[in-house]
Amino acid sequence: MKILITGGAGFIGSHLADRLIETGHEIYIVDNLSSGSMDNVKHHQNNDKFHLIVDTILNQELMENIVRQCDQVYHLAAAVGVKLIMNRPVETLETNVRGTEMILKMANKYKKKVFITSTSEVYGKIMNGKNSPLLLEDTDRLMGSTTKRRWAYACSKAFDEFLALAYYEEKKLPVVIARLFNTVGPRQTGQYGMVLPNFVQKALIGKPIIVYGNGSQSRSFLHIADAVEAMICLMNESNAEGEVVNIGNTEEIMIKDLAFMVREMAESSSEIEYISYERAYGPGYEDMLRRTPDISKLKRLAGFEPRHKIDEIVRSVIDYYKI
Ligand code: UDP
Repeated sequence: MKILITGGAGFIGSHLADRLIETGHEIYIVDNLSSGSMDNVKHHQNNDKFHLIVDTILNQELMENIVRQCDQVYHLAAAVGVKLIMNRPVETLETNVRGTEMILKMANKYKKKVFITSTSEVYGKIMNGKNSPLLLEDTDRLMGSTTKRRWAYACSKAFDEFLALAYYEEKKLPVVIARLFNTVGPRQTGQYGMVLPNFVQKALIGKPIIVYGNGSQSRSFLHIADAVEAMICLMNESNAEGEVVNIGNTEEIMIKDLAFMVREMAESSSEIEYISYERAYGPGYEDMLRRTPDISKLKRLAGFEPRHKIDEIVRSVIDYYKI
C-alpha cells in the first residue's frame, strides 16, 4: 500500500514509518521539521519506497496531490509537548485545528481511510484521585479555564476528535481516532519537556535530575514499539472505524520513583532536585496527579497488549542516549 504519514519525521511518526516500510509499504511523509528531524528518517534516504516532503500540512495543493495517491493516511503532524504549547500557543492552535481540518477534507474528497492521533490530554484533569477508576474513552472530560494556556492543546485535540467523528457519521469517511498516553522510547527528545529523555540525559552527564512538584504525580509509560503496533492494528481493524481508542499502558510509576530508577539504571551520581511547577513551566500550569488508561477497548479491537515493562522502557532510552 501507499501510506501517507503526516508528521512522519517526528518521534512517533518515524517509528511508524520504519515499521510500515519493514512490512513492505511505500511511505510518503509530509513534515515541516518543526519538532521532527531528518535524523529520524535519514536511514531511509536511499530507499525508493520512501518519500519525504518537507512542507506544512496546511499546503492544500500538496496535500491534495499526496492524499489522492495514497491508500491510507496516518495524521500525526501536530504541535506537541507541554513546553511548546506553553511557549507558542498560536502555532499550537493553528496547526492542530487547521491541519486536521485540511487532512479530513482531503481524505473525504478521495475517500481515504484516516488515522487521527489524539492524546490523553483530552481527559484534562479528570483523574486526580489515587483510587479513581482508569480512564475510559467515554469518561467525562474536565478542562481548566481558557485563561490557563496548557488547556489549549487539549481543546484543540478534542476539536480534532469531534471533527473526525463528524466526518465518520455525516460523510461516512472511515476514521480511527486514538488517544496516545505518555509514549516514550529512542528518538524522543527532551527539548519539548518530556520527562524520560530529560531524566536520562541529565543522569548520563551527572547533572541534577529535576522533578517538578513533589514527584508524587504518576504516569503510565508506553514503549514506542508497542504504540506503533497498536496504531497499525487499529488502522487495519474495520471494527475500529468511527471509534475513539486509548493507546497506553496500565503500569503506573510516580515521577520521583522514575527519577530514582533512571539514576540507578544509568549508574549515575546525579542529584535529584525538586522544583515548583511555577518555576518549571511559568504561571498558569496545572498538572495531573495521575493519568492511566483503561485499555480494554484496545485489547478487544486490536487484540493487543503492551509488552514492554517500565524497566525495559527506561533501559531502551538509556541505551539510545549512551551512544
Ligand atoms: N516532569 C518532571 N521533570 C521534567 C519533565 C517533566 O518532573 O524534567 C513531570 C511533569 O510535570 C509531569 C510528568 O513529569 O508530571 C510527565 O511530564 P511529560 O511532560 O513527560 O508528560 P505529561 O505532563 O504530558 O504527562
